[in-house]
Amino acid sequence: MNTRHAIVVGGGTAGLIAAISLVRLAGIRVTVIRSSDIGHIMVGEGTFSSTPRLLHDVLGIPRPEFFDKVNPTWKLGIHFLWGNRPYFDFPFSFAVSHDNQILPGTEKPWGYYNLDEHLGRYTTVSNTDPAVLAKMQSGIGYHFENQRFVEYLEGFFTASGGQLLEGKVTDVVTGDHGIAYLRTADGRQLDADLFIDASGFSGRLIHGAMAEPYVPMSDRLFCDTAVVGGWRRGEDEPIKPYTTAETFSSGWCWQIEHETIVNRGYVYSSKYQTPEAAAAEYLSKNPKVDPGRLRTVPFESRRIRRAWVKNVVAIGNSCGFVEPLEATNIQLICEQSIELARLLTQEDVSKASDEYNGRVVEQWNDICDFLSLHYKFNDRLDTPFWRMAQEKTSLGKLDAYVQRYLTHGPMLYDDAAGQKYMFGADGNLAILLGMGVPWAESPAVRRR
Ligand SMILES: Cc1cc2nc3c(=O)[nH]c(=O)nc-3n(C[C@H](O)[C@H](O)[C@H](O)COP(=O)(O)OP(=O)(O)OC[C@H]3O[C@@H](n4cnc5c(N)ncnc54)[C@H](O)[C@@H]3O)c2cc1C
Repeated sequence: MNTRHAIVVGGGTAGLIAAISLVRLAGIRVTVIRSSDIGHIMVGEGTFSSTPRLLHDVLGIPRPEFFDKVNPTWKLGIHFLWGNRPYFDFPFSFAVSHDNQILPGTEKPWGYYNLDEHLGRYTTVSNTDPAVLAKMQSGIGYHFENQRFVEYLEGFFTASGGQLLEGKVTDVVTGDHGIAYLRTADGRQLDADLFIDASGFSGRLIHGAMAEPYVPMSDRLFCDTAVVGGWRRGEDEPIKPYTTAETFSSGWCWQIEHETIVNRGYVYSSKYQTPEAAAAEYLSKNPKVDPGRLRTVPFESRRIRRAWVKNVVAIGNSCGFVEPLEATNIQLICEQSIELARLLTQEDVSKASDEYNGRVVEQWNDICDFLSLHYKFNDRLDTPFWRMAQEKTSLGKLDAYVQRYLTHGPMLYDDAAGQKYMFGADGNLAILLGMGVPWAESPAVRRR
C-alpha cells in the first residue's frame, strides 16, 4: 500500500493527533471529516508524563502557543485516596528510577512523595516561573479541557497543511482492499488510500464497516459508567498540581484541576449502584456541583481485536477504552499515531499491520494489568463492589510479579522472568507500597 491520501473520520483528540502525525511525520495528504452534530467527548482530561514530550518534541506543537491557547495546568502525578493509608502519592518519573528523581524547582527526590507540598507553587503552565519552566519541559503531564485542546489541534492541523471538513459519514462502501469510499449526509463521496477510524466509541469504520470485533476487558475492569460534573474554582481553592483519585463505594472519583474549573468524575459499576444512587453519592461528596449539569457517560472496557485491518486503522476510543485511572488514553493515541506514521514511511509496509497490531494489543494488555493492580488490593472501603474487586480481579502478566512481591517483599530491579512492565517495576511498587500491601516478612507497617 503506497499511501498518498488518508481520510480521518473524527475530529476529536484522536482524529486530530492521528492527522497531525500523518501530515507532519509521514508527509501524507490528510483530510479530517467530523460532525458537529455528533460532537466529541468533552471530558476533562489529564495526560501521562511523557505526553507533553510527544506533543511538542515529536509532533512539533510549539510550547508557547500551546500554553497560551490551551492553558494547561501542571500534573506532577496522582494523589490516591486509596488502599489502607490515609493517602499516597504516585509522582511522575522525572528520570528513570526513584533514587535519582528530583522534582523540578526543588532539591528533593521524588521518594519524598508529598505532592501537596507543591500546592500553590505551580499554577497554570503559562504562569510558571520561566526558570522553573525550563526544568519542567519533560517528564511532567498536563491537565487541559478537551474542548480547548481540540480547538487548538484543529488550527495546528490546518496550519500544517491538512484539510478539515464538516460533515456526517452515513455510508461506508467496502471493497477488496478494505474501504473503497465514504458517503456523507450531504451527498459527497470521499475516497482515499488509507482510512483512519477516529469516530469514538461507535467504531464506525473498523467495527461497523469492517466488522472487526471488540475484545472485552470488562471481565477484569468492572466499571462501566462515569458521572461527570464540575464547578467554578473559588478564590480559596488553590490549583492542585496533580490529579486526585478517590475511592468511592462502587468505583472511584477523579478530580482534575483546570485554571477556572474543577472537574470531577465518578467512575462506577452499574451492577453495584444505580445511576440515582451514584449521582447521590457524587453530589454528597461534591456539593458545589450543579445537579442539573451532571452528565452520564456509559463506556465499556475493551479493545479492538486488530487495530489495522486492510486499509483501515482505528485510533482513540474506536480502538479501545479503559477508564482514566492512570490517564493513559491520550498517551496511547499519541504513541499509536506516531508509530503508524513511522511505519507508513518504510519502504516495505506489507508486514507493517501485523507488527502494529501486535504492539497495540500489548499496550492495552499492559494498561489493563496495571489498572488491575489498583483494584486487587484496594481495601479502603468495605463495600460489595470493593470486596468483589479484591476477590475477582485477575492480574494478568503482573501475577507472577505480585506473587514474588508477596513472598519476598519489594524489589525495584525485578526482571526475574524477563518481563518488561509498561509502568516499570517502580510503577508497580509505587502502587503496592502506596496501598500498604504487606509481604510475608513485612513489619507491621500496614494498619492505620
Ligand atoms: C469519562 C471519561 C474520562 C476520560 N478521561 C481521560 C483522561 O483524563 N485522560 C485521557 O487520556 N483520556 C481520557 N478519556 C479518554 C478520551 O476521551 C479519549 O482519549 C480522547 O478524548 C479521544 O476521543 P476520540 O477522539 O477517540 O473520540 P471523540 O472525542 O468522541 O471524537 C469522535 C469524533 O468522531 C466524529 N464522528 C463520529 N461519527 C461520525 C460520523 N458518522 N461522521 C463524521 N464524524 C463522526 C465526532 O464528530 C468526533 O469528532 C476519558 C474518557 C471518558 C469517557
